[in-house]
Amino acid sequence: MSDYEAVIGLEIHIELNTQSKMFCDCEVAFAGEPNTRTCEVCLGMPGSLPVTNEKAIQYIAKLGLALNCEIANFTQFHRKNYFYPDMPKDYQISQFDLPVAGKGYLDIESDTGEFKRIGITRAHIEEDTGKMLHISRTGRIHGADYSLVDFNRAGTPLAEVVTEPDIRNPDDARIFMQSLRNIALHLGISDVNMEEGSLRVDANVSLRKVGQKELGTKTEVKNMNSFRALKRALDFEIARHTKLLEAGERVVQETRHWDDAGGKTTSLRSKEEAHDYRYFPEPDLVPLTLKPSYIEEIRATLPELPEARRKRFEDQYSLVPHDARVLSFEKAVGDFFEESAKDYKNYKSLVNWIMGEFSYHLNNQGLAIDECALTPKHLVQLLKMIDDNTISGKIAKEVFDEMFNTGKLPSVIVEEKGLTQITDQSEIEKVVDMVLEENPQAVTDLKEGKDRALGFLVGQVMRLTKGKASPELVNKLLWEKIKQ
Ligand code: ADP
Ligand code: MG
Ligand code: ZN
Repeated sequence: MSDYEAVIGLEIHIELNTQSKMFCDCEVAFAGEPNTRTCEVCLGMPGSLPVTNEKAIQYIAKLGLALNCEIANFTQFHRKNYFYPDMPKDYQISQFDLPVAGKGYLDIESDTGEFKRIGITRAHIEEDTGKMLHISRTGRIHGADYSLVDFNRAGTPLAEVVTEPDIRNPDDARIFMQSLRNIALHLGISDVNMEEGSLRVDANVSLRKVGQKELGTKTEVKNMNSFRALKRALDFEIARHTKLLEAGERVVQETRHWDDAGGKTTSLRSKEEAHDYRYFPEPDLVPLTLKPSYIEEIRATLPELPEARRKRFEDQYSLVPHDARVLSFEKAVGDFFEESAKDYKNYKSLVNWIMGEFSYHLNNQGLAIDECALTPKHLVQLLKMIDDNTISGKIAKEVFDEMFNTGKLPSVIVEEKGLTQITDQSEIEKVVDMVLEENPQAVTDLKEGKDRALGFLVGQVMRLTKGKASPELVNKLLWEKIKQ
């Protein structure tokens, strides 16, 4: 056991999916032909003037409200000055001491089932920068021969959420991010896709002696493109800090880069090289007064959020707390469940299939529930076919596999492959007689009370009928014949 505990705070950027950009009417979209969604404003031409996108203000206020933040009545934009080629104005329009959303919190549930309150320091709105592409003609790994800049992303509204240093381990950091992502999806304000960069996270981490109040020296890690990368990067940093501190050395405050392939972080820049952003109020934009009535109007548009949905799942569908939690953890999973539940009322069975067979297949292929060919209609049809004895539970798994891979409806698969369950008693009886005749030892065993022999005999019948015999009928017939 280490004497140290980890302290983690996150800085998160979320690209908002408004129709137009933050300060101009260029379209917001992902990728596309480079530099086709630009104008003099988002290219930072001298003399061009920004105009605030009201929708983006509503979105950040929604996010702030969902994170239990105080929403400012008076908010202002600031210029954050620094030079980088992806931002030709040489400043980013951001917020400084008057963000839209101030202090708040998000309750997360640890893997241990424990609830933890993570403080939100603030949530503000800013504009995204362009995207750099570093091209190497010679194929060398380090450095580039030239760089290209794509300004399609420049000016996309960006929400920045900063947490208090309240997170204590990498798994909780991951769960916080998953919860935040889920909230953004429920609010419909972003695609929050880590691979595509519409959800980005920088993680600050330090160590301190257990029981110590003061915070230790932190490092900030950038460039994690998945939840898994976030967890791995934090594990790596915590191990690195621990080693340094246990050797009596000091952690250098610096920004570090996560190298996912190499599984390690490397130094990007130290505190000494840190920027002085010389923030000052943006003179081209008027400060905004958000009246309490305006904020209440926005609050009234908030949809049901994950926590409320979870509780409703327990009440409306009589789900046990664990099932309700798993089903509401991801919006798309909850949506799939509810869509299916409209046409299928054995909720427990539905939950078992979604959490069992379905998620097993999804995990195997690394797919999200809304990325596969299977729809609620498929699953409901399959479950109904089990219920009315058209197919056995065993065959259902085979059909599931096929419909997952092909997107064909179960009725079509069962028809094509002739998988309909044999419920004709005389047909099964023939097979049962045959099996009993061929396995006298098992019959004797069973008569002597060795129940395991029954399983063996049932198995033989199922094998000969290729799994199509109704297991209940097989059981019933076997018992009847043996008792004779
Ligand atoms: P900086 O000025 O270096 O950007 P901030 O005070 O703005 O630092 O904090 C940035 C993020 O780092 C926040 O999420 C905060 O919770 C977190 N943080 C601050 N100090 C520490 C620390 N000692 N250890 C871990 N996280 C920290
Ligand atoms: Mg900071
Ligand atoms: Zn533009």
